[in-house]
Amino acid sequence: MFASSSPPAADTLEISLFGTGVGEALAVHVGNGEWILVDSCRQTKASPEPFNLSYLRSLGVDPTKDVKLIVATHWHDDHVAGLSELVEQCQSASLVFSHALANDEFQCIVGLYSTHQVSFDNEKSGVREMGRSLDTLLKRKYATPASYRPPVRTQADSRIFRRDDCEVIALSPSPESIQMAMEEMASAWHALEAEARGGRGPRPARSGFPCPQRNHNAVALWVKWGERRILLGADLEEHGNRLLGWQAVLSCNQFPDGHARVFKIPHHGSPNGDYEHIWQDIVVNDDAYALLTAYNRGRTPRPSLDDIERIRQHTNEIYYTSLPRKTANRYDRTVERTIKGIVRRRRGLGPTPGHIQMRWDAVGNISVEVAGAASKI
Ligand SMILES: [Zn+2]
Repeated sequence: MFASSSPPAADTLEISLFGTGVGEALAVHVGNGEWILVDSCRQTKASPEPFNLSYLRSLGVDPTKDVKLIVATHWHDDHVAGLSELVEQCQSASLVFSHALANDEFQCIVGLYSTHQVSFDNEKSGVREMGRSLDTLLKRKYATPASYRPPVRTQADSRIFRRDDCEVIALSPSPESIQMAMEEMASAWHALEAEARGGRGPRPARSGFPCPQRNHNAVALWVKWGERRILLGADLEEHGNRLLGWQAVLSCNQFPDGHARVFKIPHHGSPNGDYEHIWQDIVVNDDAYALLTAYNRGRTPRPSLDDIERIRQHTNEIYYTSLPRKTANRYDRTVERTIKGIVRRRRGLGPTPGHIQMRWDAVGNISVEVAGAASKI
């Protein structure tokens, strides 16, 4: 269920986006057969190996040697299912994740590094993947120290990969996101201390203090290679606050530089992931390639028809890995009558997986292939 199974040329930048309806993952070729994996999702129940890992195998890539980085943009279930398997298999890769941790994530770290014998099986799946990933690295540290790479916690303005003139830069979390995470941890710690002293501090629940909304902790990425620029938006949102989310990205000190021709749309196309100035300031203004994944849960599955129409105001080159059933059905009833013909092929009903494979060669040619439920709008 993949697009082309021949590997990209050594000087071709590839971005492959995988979606299952409730999960997304990426594989990025950064040159000379080296890859970066961003997030993880399982293709289907019948073939549970992480989607991006199966894809690399189908290309003949050796994950133990050729994957240099695994980035967990944030520890939400729809972005990290199977991520600990990536860490297990890709033994030459560094694991990178956000410096801004929610309290249940911090608790996971406290449990792991204080006893070394905790079980993560009862945790929410995102935190469970985090615990298992860090546990794998901890064991590797003592069993095979020569191959051990410590986990990297990243933040805005950090270069997380460099080879020749190819670089990957983290655009978030912002310093204020990290500060907020520290403040939340401190108040939770204070509550625990108060309870230990027999005081009446607010009582934290076993598996975590209340988790504040946390998408501003997500790691958005900027990939640059020569003149080529790609913006990977993770689930980063716009918060109407200059210190958080997309507004903070635009005040990064060193980056971004230039304009992205390829834009992985943030947060499955939802309005709170959209920030007008990103389109104006760091994305090319003539039909950038917009890549979308679905989130086929909740009252308003994403992308909705309105989301797609909003993105169409910026570009006509929109690709999706799959569409939520609700959105696809609305195409059937309404859109065909009003804007007939915008959907070339109608697939993507329900949770069918899809793959968008985009290759950008050294002289600037971009080619796109789709497989499964993926399609161009
Ligand atoms: Zn998501």
